[in-house]
Amino acid sequence: MPRALFVDRDADRTLATVRTLDPEALPEGDVLVEGLYSSLNYKDGLAVTGRGKIIRGALPFVPGIDLVGRVLSSTAEAYAPGDLVIQTGWHLGEARWGGFSQQQRVEARSLVPLPPGLSPLHAMVAGTAGFTAMLSVMTLEEHGLTPDQGTVVVTGASGGVGSFSVALLHERGFHVAASTGSEGAHTYLRSLGADDIQPRDVLGAGAQRPLDKAQYAGAIDCVGGDTLAALLSTMGRHGCVAACGLAGGAALHTTVFPFILRGVVLAGIDSNTCPPARRRAAWASLAALPASLYDAIHTDTIALDEVPARSDALLAGHIQGRLVVDLQQ
Ligand code: NDP
Repeated sequence: MPRALFVDRDADRTLATVRTLDPEALPEGDVLVEGLYSSLNYKDGLAVTGRGKIIRGALPFVPGIDLVGRVLSSTAEAYAPGDLVIQTGWHLGEARWGGFSQQQRVEARSLVPLPPGLSPLHAMVAGTAGFTAMLSVMTLEEHGLTPDQGTVVVTGASGGVGSFSVALLHERGFHVAASTGSEGAHTYLRSLGADDIQPRDVLGAGAQRPLDKAQYAGAIDCVGGDTLAALLSTMGRHGCVAACGLAGGAALHTTVFPFILRGVVLAGIDSNTCPPARRRAAWASLAALPASLYDAIHTDTIALDEVPARSDALLAGHIQGRLVVDLQQ
């Protein structure tokens, strides 16, 4: 019988345990997938520990916002048994049972075929984090950002989205500044291609003035809150901030001055509901990256029953890079 990680509540405690899964209990969907790998993201950490209101389905619930697997059966024309498929987002592991499972039933319209050149393992080294970083870089480039315009800063740089963002920007020839609160991550960030390392507190102190000295041509922000306000006030003319995270806070206190006096653009990134064509384009670009980039960001591969302990470590900021969950272990 397949196994899955279930989240449940006992009085006011959240419990996460690996148990046998009754395939009859799987959600409705037109594709049954054998799970090969998932990954551990910030959202998963919140769901597994109960520290954030991520789970919107009834308990007990199978979390996991990422999944790569092999199609076992399909009533959808687009997929046949044996096909390798990826699902990230579309509320997987939030509103419907997710990737921390050896079997899952999903909707064909939510899937992306594993692109040629990308292994299942590397697909989950990327997972939602790499996909979100790629969407962020695509957004900056669509805005017209080129390497000759100046430094691009990445906040929350040692995390999953941050690591991929640093590596992708470096790969495309940008001068990259990494903002991090993890002193032990400096060598790692330099190995990914960070040109400058900045202590988290610098931007974390918030905007000192509505418009401060222009320092950056672009930014990928995983932190939000005061950090995002500081980024807006230090962005150069017509700079662009791809805002994807809230690891430091959800509130945003700013003024309109960066927008109306410098033409700064604040671009939102939502990987969850990214439309299918853009989704496939981002995965195709991820598949074209060198294996060495994935190897540098792949921190560890863990088993399903290690997910709860690693979730605590992730939320405590003790994990750099990406953790892959091997569903076959
Ligand atoms: P990780 O936990 O891997 O990384 C988060 C990083 O943020 C940490 O490694 C740390 O980096 C930094 N950080 C942690 N706590 C704080 C804090 N209190 N103040 C400032 N910085 C902090 O998470 P992910 O990379 O998976 O996700 C990053 C963010 O992006 C999350 O908020 C997540 O919800 C969001 N996200 C959004 C997506 C979207 O579609 N919009 C998709 C995926 C993620 P360091 O130590 O280097 O400073």
